[in-house]
Amino acid sequence: NPHIEGTLEKLQLRDIFIAVKTTGRFHKTRLALLLETWISRTKAHTFIFTDTEDDDLRSKGYNMVVTGCHSDHSQQALSCKMSAEYDGFMASDKRWFCHVDDDNYVNPVALLSLLSAFPQEGDIYVGKPSLDKPITAQELLERNQTREVQFWFATGGAGFCLSRRLAEKMIPWASGSRFEQTSSKIRLPDDCTVGFIIEKRLGISMVHCPLFHSHLENLLLVRQRSIPQQVTLSYGIFENKMNSIEIKGRFSKEEDPSRFKTVHCMLYPLTSWCP
Ligand code: UDP
Ligand code: MN
Repeated sequence: NPHIEGTLEKLQLRDIFIAVKTTGRFHKTRLALLLETWISRTKAHTFIFTDTEDDDLRSKGYNMVVTGCHSDHSQQALSCKMSAEYDGFMASDKRWFCHVDDDNYVNPVALLSLLSAFPQEGDIYVGKPSLDKPITAQELLERNQTREVQFWFATGGAGFCLSRRLAEKMIPWASGSRFEQTSSKIRLPDDCTVGFIIEKRLGISMVHCPLFHSHLENLLLVRQRSIPQQVTLSYGIFENKMNSIEIKGRFSKEEDPSRFKTVHCMLYPLTSWCP
């Protein structure tokens, strides 16, 4: 039907731009696991933002963006990458932008059903706060003045998404060099900067969603039966111990410490390497 415009059409997975933030030294140790698992289902619309060229990844046809950002964990380097992710989305024809870290599992079906439930023309910022209260920042003003500001932000380590309409409204503070300028005004990391732009500059509230997960929370609390509904998962070392979800399966904890292979085989049991 030629009268149905793109925005009225049902959202498809391929309409979601998934940006994965990584760095050269994690290509083999973290990214490879994602490529084997969930990215095998979302390859065409997943974009890997890194700081190091990788001929192996290129030759396999992944969408790779090698940013000129520093390869360290500094606020500037990470804001530089987020800025590249945002600009990459803006230049695309996709309807939603989602950011994840390279220690996140994304459940594509759950992600699609979450985003499909929002008004597609709305101003949507959805993710999970890392704190139980808004963050307080000192915004730098003219003439060395500062002002206290409070706002919610979605923790980058759990992943978050923005609708295109909202992303377009962010242009004055987020496009090109402006994202890093905004980030330096509050001297906080990239994910806080996104929250600051949306909640303080635009006056739009974040949607708090419990289906996103970072390794800053106790991942043992994610119920095995609820895993198919979770949008993102994570893993990492917390207080010298592995923090990962608890899920039974054929892979031992030694073979699959992140549990991502086990989750993937539960969701997609026909995958060639699944037991
Ligand atoms: N990262 C990066 N450059 C670095 C270190 C980390 O781009 O020098 C990325 C990393 O690939 C991951 C995210 O930043 O996607 C968060 O890093 P990590 O999980 O190591 O630390 P966390 O902040 O979760 O403790
Ligand atoms: Mn992490």
